[in-house]
Amino acid sequence: MYDVVIIGGGPAGLTAGIYAARDNLKTLILEKNFPGGQVAITEIIENYPGFVEGISGGDLTEKLYQHAKHFGVEIKNGICRGVEFCDGYKYVCLQYKDIKIKTKTIIIASGAKPKNLEVPGENKFLGRGISFCATCDGAFYKDKVVAVIGGGDSAVEEGHYLTKFAKKVYIVHRRDKLRAAKILQDRAFANPKIEFIWNSVVKKVNGEDKIESITLYDKKLGKTSELKVDGVFVFIGWTADTDAFRGLIEMDESGFIIADETTKTNIPGIFAAGDVRKKELRQIVTAVSDGAVAAKMAERYIEENYPQED
Ligand code: NAP
Repeated sequence: MYDVVIIGGGPAGLTAGIYAARDNLKTLILEKNFPGGQVAITEIIENYPGFVEGISGGDLTEKLYQHAKHFGVEIKNGICRGVEFCDGYKYVCLQYKDIKIKTKTIIIASGAKPKNLEVPGENKFLGRGISFCATCDGAFYKDKVVAVIGGGDSAVEEGHYLTKFAKKVYIVHRRDKLRAAKILQDRAFANPKIEFIWNSVVKKVNGEDKIESITLYDKKLGKTSELKVDGVFVFIGWTADTDAFRGLIEMDESGFIIADETTKTNIPGIFAAGDVRKKELRQIVTAVSDGAVAAKMAERYIEENYPQED
């Protein structure tokens, strides 16, 4: 039995693990893929305090992972399919095998998953021409032409990164103003390999064996056109990875868990930390902050609800 089971091993989950284990709570992190989450596949992080020159997502993940291990956090692979309750304890139910992990508290730090374009041709080329990760797939596009879809920090930052490989990067945005931070915009505008296509949305991804073009619709001009590209990188935001908790935990319409800065959800003893929580600013720094708070709240909950076991 654990004091805390943390679902998700990104910055929020790993930080929650560090704080919980350092407070002598028996702590397990369940991660469905690899530790680090979105951060692990980010080329460079320039705004995490203390790293003036920036730090690669891989290096930051490794440091957080080693930090959690240092304090004795167990980190295992597993996919949570739901939560059950019995005799005052919670049970994290795993997919595939009939394994249930008994715990006093749960911290949901399952993060978010990238949104799809949901246009014809997308499914056909997923993983073979359509990507959600420039760090993972950028090198396949040496001297090729790619389109990046979106106008937020991810699209603009990753678009700039892709110019390390591609000879041309189109950034296709549905409005005429970017959402991305000014510093990222300025860098992209100054990059001669980047061309912006404004007010446009993708209608179709075309090709036989590989992507040959995308069909764009210019909303302002009401015109459809074809853009020849070899690859498409989609950065149009994220949806919460909370399917396992539907019907149990209160969420907004996009599946983000409703919890205030105490990270407490509607279910006592279950907390939500990081990108999975409904919040204004999704950054590594706010995720790690949530992780620390959630661990402290879990400790307090255990003190109040299981005093006989102290
Ligand atoms: P985001 O901020 O939600 O931006 C998504 C972009 O995609 C927006 O420009 C949006 O257009 C567009 N979009 C949404 N749905 C679309 C659709 N169906 N078709 C076409 N375009 C669509 O997502 P993000 O850029 O991944 O960033 C997520 C969070 O991570 C943000 O809080 C961001 O600040 C943070 N982040 C930070 C950094 C950094 O600090 N260096 C780097 C990456 C991410 P509209 O603008 O019209 O809504």
